[in-house]
Amino acid sequence: MRRAIIYSLMTLSLLTNLHAKEGLNPVEIMKEALSKMEAVAKRGSDVNISNTDTSTFTLGKYGTFKFEKANDNVYIMHGPVVGPNKENEGFMNNPAVIESEHGLIVIDPGGNYNVGKKVLAQIEKVSTKPIIAVFNTHKHGDHWFANKAIVEKYPKVDIYAHEHMIKVSKEGEADVWYGILNRATKGNLKGTKEFAFPTKPLVDGDSIEVDGQKFVVGHPKVAHTDTDLLITHINSNTLFLADNLMKGRLGSFDDSSSIFGNIELLEQIKKDTNYTLYVPGHGISGKKDETIDPFLNYLKVLVEEGQKAYDDDKESYEIEDKVLKKLEWMRDWDAFERNVPAHLNKAMLEIGERELESEDEE
Ligand SMILES: [Zn+2]
Repeated sequence: MRRAIIYSLMTLSLLTNLHAKEGLNPVEIMKEALSKMEAVAKRGSDVNISNTDTSTFTLGKYGTFKFEKANDNVYIMHGPVVGPNKENEGFMNNPAVIESEHGLIVIDPGGNYNVGKKVLAQIEKVSTKPIIAVFNTHKHGDHWFANKAIVEKYPKVDIYAHEHMIKVSKEGEADVWYGILNRATKGNLKGTKEFAFPTKPLVDGDSIEVDGQKFVVGHPKVAHTDTDLLITHINSNTLFLADNLMKGRLGSFDDSSSIFGNIELLEQIKKDTNYTLYVPGHGISGKKDETIDPFLNYLKVLVEEGQKAYDDDKESYEIEDKVLKKLEWMRDWDAFERNVPAHLNKAMLEIGERELESEDEE
């Protein structure tokens, strides 16, 4: 028998029956949100440099960033769809704000203390209500290091993350990511230490209610990493997929990742859920298929082509050109040339491991 990669996606399946949301016209909301998001995505070279509003969050050629209503009481700031660099100051994720009656709940505020202060200023434009809770989706610092700016202003705020995320971050992952991001941004991580680690550990299936806003979290054992938290905001019918989903950009997989796990997770989500809005860790949010399919199809090509190469006794570099050609449709995704070969290599390593394990078990 093959090694069983089991993901406890029970949570997501359970939620399928809870989706029906009353008093909402999802089509209209989505249309409005999508047209705004397209506008954000196209921004870049046509920046309005005459803007003298000092509270504007502008990052050179990447343009100006602010929170926009994405769904019901959910606001998202879609960051630049590129890796961390000096010009974007290490800001490239999708912070989200959920407005409750008395406060704000923030998901993944960003990649360092300085960015956090700027994101916080934009959050205050959504509402001046206090931040009453924060969620962090996984261990990668580009998503959570900005907790520091929030904790500075709200020292008692609850910060939720998967229990394993908190453990490994404290055991050294945070330092690794500090180094990565500090180098990539040429030193913009100043003020980020001491890290503002999450304080409230969660496990798969937990539900949390904050000021009338209900969240249910899911944890695939291993997908983008082994620390991922998928967050469903029940009130707005929104699913936050963290970096298990990217659009327009290829991030990296590390030792704690599984391409097979990522594929299984996305297929399960496609099959079992029907949310109004799907939010990737990087790239523009949208409806289910249009948001999930490009990345899922990409991962499937890696595995299919990787398996053929494995069967033909070929190394990943020997099929690189063929695979790049097959993926021509996504050539404009950030880090395409660099990360496709790396991901293909990773896929083949996983294929090799699985083949060995299935031989052992026969
Ligand atoms: Zn990540």
